[in-house]
Amino acid sequence: MLRTRRARVGAWLLRAARGPEPGRSASGARGQGWLQPAGYDTGVKVYNSLTRRKDPLIVSRADAASWYSCGPTVYDHAHLGHACSYVRFDIIRRILTRVFGCNVIMVMGITDVDDKIIRRANEMPDLCLSPFGSGVRPGHHMSVSPASLARLYEEDFKQDMAALKVLPPTAYLRVTEHVPQIVAFIERIIANGHAYCTANGNVYFDLQSRGDRYGKLVGMAPGPEGEPVDSDKRHASDFALWKAAKPEEPFWGSPWGDGRPGWHVECSTIASLVFGSRLDIHSGGVDLAFPHHENEIAQCEAFHRCPQWGNYFLHSGHLHVKGGGEKMSKSLKNYITIKDFLRSASPDVFRLFCLRSSYRSAVDYSEGALLEARRLLRAAAAFAEDARAYVRGQLAGGSVQEDVLWERLGRTKGAVRAALADDFDTVRAVDAVMDLVHHGNKQLKAAAEEPRGPRSPAVLGAIVASVEQFFETVGISLAERQGVPGAGSPAALHSLVEELVRFRLKVRQFALASGEAPGEARRQLLLERRPLLEACDELRRDLAVHGISIKDRSGSSTWELLDSRTEDPTPRS
Ligand SMILES: [Zn+2]
Repeated sequence: MLRTRRARVGAWLLRAARGPEPGRSASGARGQGWLQPAGYDTGVKVYNSLTRRKDPLIVSRADAASWYSCGPTVYDHAHLGHACSYVRFDIIRRILTRVFGCNVIMVMGITDVDDKIIRRANEMPDLCLSPFGSGVRPGHHMSVSPASLARLYEEDFKQDMAALKVLPPTAYLRVTEHVPQIVAFIERIIANGHAYCTANGNVYFDLQSRGDRYGKLVGMAPGPEGEPVDSDKRHASDFALWKAAKPEEPFWGSPWGDGRPGWHVECSTIASLVFGSRLDIHSGGVDLAFPHHENEIAQCEAFHRCPQWGNYFLHSGHLHVKGGGEKMSKSLKNYITIKDFLRSASPDVFRLFCLRSSYRSAVDYSEGALLEARRLLRAAAAFAEDARAYVRGQLAGGSVQEDVLWERLGRTKGAVRAALADDFDTVRAVDAVMDLVHHGNKQLKAAAEEPRGPRSPAVLGAIVASVEQFFETVGISLAERQGVPGAGSPAALHSLVEELVRFRLKVRQFALASGEAPGEARRQLLLERRPLLEACDELRRDLAVHGISIKDRSGSSTWELLDSRTEDPTPRS
């Protein structure tokens, strides 16, 4: 059983409830001041961090819901904690599109200039990469430019996401390619009276100018922790929009002198560049809510002079290790890289692992939870294979309780949709689908015990299609397991295995056919043909090593390709 915990919300609850303001909808104590947007109602109720309740998800238009996702800071390999967040939001995006008919335009910002990147580039040995992009202060002695290091890990990140079957965003936007736009964004915030420049060439957001509008999301003001003692801010809680250049750091020119953008303003600028003053959905890990998203909101609303920029903030829970509530992170050095993970487990198993907890929950990473996901996936795939064999008439079986199955199928479809519409409750949806698999299996088993009855291929076909469609929706392919992957010609390889299995079936049937021969002659015949039977078994075992699993049914043999990373680690005989 997968253990989940609710995301820690302690600090969020500290937010003082504000009274409703004129002209704003006020429907309940929480979320007052939030304006319910007009547009296309997706039919989904989503937990909105802005209101801390489930709100109807209404996007600007069905064909173009705008979604901004905070992307990675590209300074190292991504780990499983990142994978968990991006896979969970990928699942939500797929559900929105495929179940609720809402197409998403997703933009992801790539932070390719940052303290961590600069520090890492300084530590790296010379990789002979040519620097590009920004300038570097004279007198530098960097072996790898931060820009080159960032490109390297950006590519790495994209490869990891593809390996995890995470759909790419509609567009990636890099910070270093939008510095002039960021500068213009900051200029406008200053002009609107919400930021100031210091003598040292830093620009800060003036938090006091926002009044009680700051803290919409989390209700906290940034503290002075981690601030340099020589800070030239007016108030400890003000945050940097522009950082004056330091020696040996990349910099760009600006009206305030050479420097580089602060972190929060990158996302605000990029999201506003593409989507303007209205953003439907904003997503990220729960650790980004404060101060990052809170500051993004402050910047955007100061820039656009609008009462509400982002309408829905979705936050994913952390991946924890060792069940001790310890977040998987770079700094705690308790992480597994995505690449290492995928050497022994398939992306489908990881996806099912993610589906088995709410995207908002913290989730414990454990071998046991992974094995359970693997077992469920295997069970669903085995059912699909058996049901298909039944439809083809290859599985011995008679009547099934057709009306019971039709009823169950209808009920499952309704339950899945209702679960997904309730804040993307994938836990309930998977349970409903696995329950259908269970009942389908039960009927197939019962049918096998009464092989002469009437057959019901239609209902089993409908069930297997529905189960496969569910997994397909969330990015898991059961049917794909039929194909033979390979660089050459998958179709030719598939035919080859097909021929081999057919030949083996003929040999096996010959070996098993004792004919009409009586008594002693029959015994002798079986003895003579025994080596053939043994050879058939041997071939089955040998092909299993290559991931090809042959099942002998009554009168026929079927086969499927097993992804070794999806299978149980125990050897198959
Ligand atoms: Zn961001």
